[in-house]
Amino acid sequence: MSRRIEIDRDICIGSGLCAATAPRHFALGEDRRSRILPDAGEPDEEVADAVDFCPVEAISLLSEP
Ligand code: SF4
Repeated sequence: MSRRIEIDRDICIGSGLCAATAPRHFALGEDRRSRILPDAGEPDEEVADAVDFCPVEAISLLSEP
């Protein structure tokens, strides 16, 4: 089973914590909201930490069959 990252960009406040915690998977866009970097591969432990650290709980890890 693989996992997919989802960001609710409507509630992202641009703290940058996710990009600092998991820089292979997240970056801040020009609009100062987080975006998922392409080709980063499977979400890893750093991504799980970013989910925990996000101050507005904007990041989800979804399981896919
Ligand atoms: S940690 Fe959360 S609020 Fe901060 S930039 Fe990432 S998604 Fe946005």
